[in-house]
Amino acid sequence: MAPADRVAADSAARSAPDGPCAVLFDFDGTLVHQTIDFAAMRSAVLALARRYGIDAEGWDRRPSLEMVDAVAGSLEADRAAAFRREAAEAIEAIEMAAARFAQPYNGVTEALAELAEQGYGIGIVTRNCRRAVADVLARHPLVHDVLVTRDDTEHVKPDPRHLYDAAARLGIPAECCLMCGDHPMDVAAGKAAGARTVAVVYDGAAIGREAFVGQHAPDLLLASVTELLHRLPARPCSSPCAARQMARRHG
Ligand SMILES: [Mg+2]
Repeated sequence: MAPADRVAADSAARSAPDGPCAVLFDFDGTLVHQTIDFAAMRSAVLALARRYGIDAEGWDRRPSLEMVDAVAGSLEADRAAAFRREAAEAIEAIEMAAARFAQPYNGVTEALAELAEQGYGIGIVTRNCRRAVADVLARHPLVHDVLVTRDDTEHVKPDPRHLYDAAARLGIPAECCLMCGDHPMDVAAGKAAGARTVAVVYDGAAIGREAFVGQHAPDLLLASVTELLHRLPARPCSSPCAARQMARRHG
């Protein structure tokens, strides 16, 4: 951080004692660049639904996970469970293929390390599967205190309970977190959880700045995660929950 920014951040820290204690990051498109073939994913779910006798054509504007829920909801319990299993395999295969080529955006590794050094809790909250995220992190480690993939929670973003799960594992309320992501559903989840929100729109991102308006307008819109270092106070709030979080990390 440049000296002038550091002065500004220090001043902000003094004037904003209720700043965030932790940052919850989305994974794909926020921390890590990877191209998951969501169209192929939806096609695979549609084809599978047809095999189960469900015409889900009219539902194909929904994200795949929500389409799976909708199709499963219209099947009897046994067939719903089998459908969910097969759909999970198909979706995970596409995620694993993308993970092989994934890598962090420039400066993200260092930015997370610096935020952690400053005392911020770091969470990763993602709709991706645990295997794919683990595969990427094994090759490109990113500092974090908690990781909540869709395999680790009952309810995924935009459901705020995904964020509640992460905040609980950090030992702090969700309102003490900043939610940072590249998709309007990250902002929606953050707002619903009572967290402050940051949208990140990298150059050439599939989802542009125009998507973050109205109910999806974040508190802050940035061109990269690294800009957060210049926008957050140089240390997290000094509330008891921040202290609890540090104690958890070190002890
Ligand atoms: Mg994303």
